[in-house]
Parts: sequence; C-alpha cells; structure tokens
Amino acid sequence: MTSVLRISGLRASIPGKEILRSIDLEVRSGEVHAVMGPNGSGKSTLSHALMGRSDYEVQGGSVTIDGQELLGLPTWRRAQAGLFLAMQYPIEVPGVSLEDALGEALAALGRDRGEVHELVAAEARGIGFDERFLTRPLNVDLSGGERKRNETLQLGVLRPKFAVLDEIDSGLDIDALRAVARRIEAATSEHDLGVLAITHYSRLLHELRPDVVHVLTGGRIVATGGPELAQELERTGYAAYGGDSEEDAPAPVEPRIADPYADPLA
Ligand code: ADP
Ligand code: MG
Repeated sequence: MTSVLRISGLRASIPGKEILRSIDLEVRSGEVHAVMGPNGSGKSTLSHALMGRSDYEVQGGSVTIDGQELLGLPTWRRAQAGLFLAMQYPIEVPGVSLEDALGEALAALGRDRGEVHELVAAEARGIGFDERFLTRPLNVDLSGGERKRNETLQLGVLRPKFAVLDEIDSGLDIDALRAVARRIEAATSEHDLGVLAITHYSRLLHELRPDVVHVLTGGRIVATGGPELAQELERTGYAAYGGDSEEDAPAPVEPRIADPYADPLA
C-alpha cells in the first residue's frame, strides 16, 4: 500500500524566534526527497517539529501520515504511526543498550522483540558497523560517523514508513557513506520506505539518488525540482536562493543525558 506523509503550512518557532514559515511537502512511499539548505535555514527545526521535540513550538499547519494527524501526539506515538528520525546529533543514553531500546520499540510496534538480536546483527553486517559497538550503551563514546551508522541500523530494524534523515552524511567517510546510502536505498525499494533526506552537501545525493530536491532558506521552501537542482546548487551555492554558503558552523553541544524528546508533562 502506498502511504503519504503530508506536511502543510507547518510553522514552528522557539521562544522569541520564528524559524519555519509555512512548509509544504508531500512524500510518498518509495520516494526520496532531499531538503537542502545552508546552515541555520531551519532544516533541523523541521526534523524536530515533525518528530515532536518539545522545545519547538508549532504555530500552525498539519503533518499527517495517511490522513492521521501527528501534530499534538507524543513522539512515541508518531514513531508508532510510522515516522522515524535519524538525528543530526544522536544523543548518548547511558545505561540503555541498543538491543534493549530496539526490543522495546519492536514490542511497541506489535512485533516480536525476540527477533531483535538477529535483526541487529544482520543490519550491522550490512553496513559494516562493528559488532563490538552493539553492546555499548546507546551512542556512548561513539564517534560522529559511528552514531550515523547506528541510526541507520535502527532504521533498518524498525522499518518505518517514512524516515527523516538529518545530515546522515555528516562524519561518514566515503565508504561508510556509500554503505549507509545503499542500505537506505534498499529500504526504499524493498519496504517502500519514503525518505526526507536533509543535507547541505550534494555528496550524499550522489549515492542516495533523490526523486525530488527542495531548497530551504530562511525557514521557507524557495525552490523544488529534480536531481538537477542539487547539481546546480553544487556549482552555485545557496547565494542565488537568498542564503549564503558559509562553512560548517560549530556543532551545538548536546547535553549528555537529557532526552530531547522527553514528554514535558511526564
Ligand atoms: P539548520 O539545521 O538548517 O542548520 P536549525 O533548524 O538548526 O538550522 O536552526 C535554524 C535557526 O534557529 C538557527 O538560527 C538556529 O540558531 C536557531 N535555533 C534552532 N534551534 C534553536 C534552539 N533550540 N535554541 C536557540 N536557537 C535555535
Ligand atoms: Mg541542522
């Protein structure tokens, strides 16, 4: 069955600052959409607003999967509805192993948690993720690139309907990038995964070929086109779209333990 992730008129802010100014996007099963934009354009805010991070306030709009409204639902319910986020800066979760976390997630999806070990091992082999990392607490003392592989592994095990990948390419060397892109591409053809791949470099898109490319600057989608749009951006940068092409801003320091998706009411 074809599913549809539909984002319409999505507006989001942090206290004192409007970041997303009416985003419209529609992704179908099996499609790969790229969202490209310079630093600070609101790419990560889009991913957080979709997944329900509580420090981003949604002012308006709607986000649905097959007609089910996700806005207002806690993060775990959005995951149950079929949405997955690979975070730009995956957090460390001391005391919780990858298999424990994925076992719980499988159970919440009504799947057999007894399969978790085998699924994790198979995914790890597929993307060249060293098995000795699997017994560590989630992301603890993993490098940036290892965390990205870890996110990809979770995606492979959970088989969501739609995956938002926030700079899944950052920190990956060329071989790891290829392995990760292949895994994601396989999911689009084998399980009909729909992908929203957020990146500011086109190198990911040489490996993970997008059907549609969107340009995000200043919290707005200012252009939409085919793969040729990514090639054009590679040549011209974002200047023509009202954004600059500054190099990587320093990575924000994420707290070691705090759960960014914690329910503020819990
Ligand atoms: P991108 O991922 O495209 O680099 P972000 O969505 O992370 O951009 O950020 C968009 C803008 O909002 C930036 O100017 C950033 O500094 C600001 N911003 C995002 N999240 C926060 C936050 N939690 N606190 C303060 N400023 C934020
Ligand atoms: Mg970002």
